[in-house]
Amino acid sequence: MYLKLVLRSALLIVVAGSAQAQYPTKPMSMVVPFAAGGPTDTLGRTIAQAMTVDLKQTVIIENVGGAGGTIGVNRVAKASPDGYTLLLHHIGMSTAPALYRNLPYKTLEDFEYIGLVADVPMTLIAKKDFPPNNYKELVAYLKANRDKVTYANAGLGAASHLCGLLFQSAIETDLTTVPYKGTAPAMNDILGGQVDLMCDQTTNTTSQIKSGKVKVYGVTSKARVPSLKEIPTLDEQGLKNFEVAVWHGVYAPKGTPKPVLDRLVTALQAALKDSNVKLRLADLGTEPVPMAKATPEALRTFLKSEVDKWGPIIKKAGQYAD
Ligand code: ASP
Repeated sequence: MYLKLVLRSALLIVVAGSAQAQYPTKPMSMVVPFAAGGPTDTLGRTIAQAMTVDLKQTVIIENVGGAGGTIGVNRVAKASPDGYTLLLHHIGMSTAPALYRNLPYKTLEDFEYIGLVADVPMTLIAKKDFPPNNYKELVAYLKANRDKVTYANAGLGAASHLCGLLFQSAIETDLTTVPYKGTAPAMNDILGGQVDLMCDQTTNTTSQIKSGKVKVYGVTSKARVPSLKEIPTLDEQGLKNFEVAVWHGVYAPKGTPKPVLDRLVTALQAALKDSNVKLRLADLGTEPVPMAKATPEALRTFLKSEVDKWGPIIKKAGQYAD
């Protein structure tokens, strides 16, 4: 009986081991916790496509938007830890613990880490016929019309929400915010003129800026963005030290086996080294992180430092959701 049991568990280990050695054997999904067609989706699809090449399995993007990304994150926290469900998320991963009183998952305990991906700058844009023609006019206009102006964002904890908070606090003006499930639907309303203003990532705004479909007042990075070099930074226009860069990482559910995680790290790094990925990201105003950051350790350490950084800032701002 004992021998049988030992043999059986040895067999199970061998089977599990060989399943992991062959991993992945079927299509995988990468959850993007925002609407399709937006900045996280665009980055996710670029990375997933390149990982598909290395993994020789399709990586399908699953858009699970809502509640500033927390619904999608929870979906991955509860998924089977077998390497077939991944998460691509941004800075919102680190702000949600302070923003949401009843988060249905534990940010620092429910995930395994694959690596950081890219830091994406943001742009302050408006609908085409918004009256102010430059940053100086914008600030004066917002102060004079604070009750009328609507500001779009992708929900509490989204990058557009954080950028908006920092901007409104920097110019000491409160605007009416309109939350969406992602900045893709928000962009549709900016283009349609139903909402006035938005701070959104270059991965979503570059083509609209270049085709003149939206007005742009500045970029949120410290230095100008090479692909949008005619657009001044907010800092150089007087909003001193204003800097927002949206970092992104790839995660797996807690308990995903180490060999599977190792395989995913290799695939992520291959994707970030891919020259097509580099070109595509450069066109969209960003670039892959250096390889030393595309590691589980770098993401684990960085996420923890961001959770520690944002907690007190958000508490002080007094922003919460249940
Ligand atoms: N990342 C969100 C999206 O993809 C936007 C945001 O965070 O502001 O829609």
